[in-house]
Amino acid sequence: MIDFHTHLGRHGKSNDVERTYGLEAPELVCKMDEWGIEKSVVLPLCDSPEGWYYRSTTDDVIAYCNRFPDRLIPFVQLDPRWGDNSPETDFSGALEEYKQRGCRGAGEVIANLSFDDPRVINYMQHCGRAGLPVVIHAAHRIGGAYGLADDAGLPRLERLLQAAPDTVICAHGPAFWSEISSNVPEETRGGYPTEPVEGPGRACELLETYPNLYGDLSAGSGANALKRSPEFGWEFLERFQDRLLFATDTMRRTMLRGDVPQIDYFADLRENGRISESAYAKIAHDNAARLLGL
Ligand SMILES: [Zn+2]
Repeated sequence: MIDFHTHLGRHGKSNDVERTYGLEAPELVCKMDEWGIEKSVVLPLCDSPEGWYYRSTTDDVIAYCNRFPDRLIPFVQLDPRWGDNSPETDFSGALEEYKQRGCRGAGEVIANLSFDDPRVINYMQHCGRAGLPVVIHAAHRIGGAYGLADDAGLPRLERLLQAAPDTVICAHGPAFWSEISSNVPEETRGGYPTEPVEGPGRACELLETYPNLYGDLSAGSGANALKRSPEFGWEFLERFQDRLLFATDTMRRTMLRGDVPQIDYFADLRENGRISESAYAKIAHDNAARLLGL
């Protein structure tokens, strides 16, 4: 398996070491061995101000990954506001430099700007030209949130997908995964809606329409989307088997004790034949390998 979404390094707003101290690279690799994960993507967070309390920069992440070059894959995080906070910033030189230093993708994009903000479109277009897939976190509002923001129905994400057709966008986060269903209550679309899925939502429609959109199944939001109506979740995996990525968002020591729902969920998929073997292989490994150029 390839885990498309993890974080390493110190994070947290308090000094409670047990709850806030992030993972070290050897701890993650030990756990990957136990979970049967061959490689993990490691995403920096604090090159955007919204991630100030996740104290791992791109340079930190490259250093962590260099200790386990066969197991850990660094991504580069630049911020769409870098440069002169302008939609004209040329990111190509920086992206090229980080590619040469081993980064195989960009993200996690957590800037709290609209998906269709001209600065975001500019940055995403540069990532596409550099051949870097981008992991983004989707938020439901501007202010008091992190991640690219959208309204219900994801109209701004759709404009971004149209404006950056050559950029692979791997979406995750509550505001994206709530839209797996056609019923999207405003009160819970930034969280974890528990209502059963009524029918395919906008996330399905966008995956159907835009070949540059992928779904990163990590975190509570990804797990919740798949589990709220189990049968629908399995059909969704089968239908979009070429465009979904196994991912966990592992980042805390407490998570190593079992708080990573994707591990049991994927074991059940495999052991109980919930989806076809080919779909499982693509989602657990092959799609990620293709995007990462492995
Ligand atoms: Zn993350």
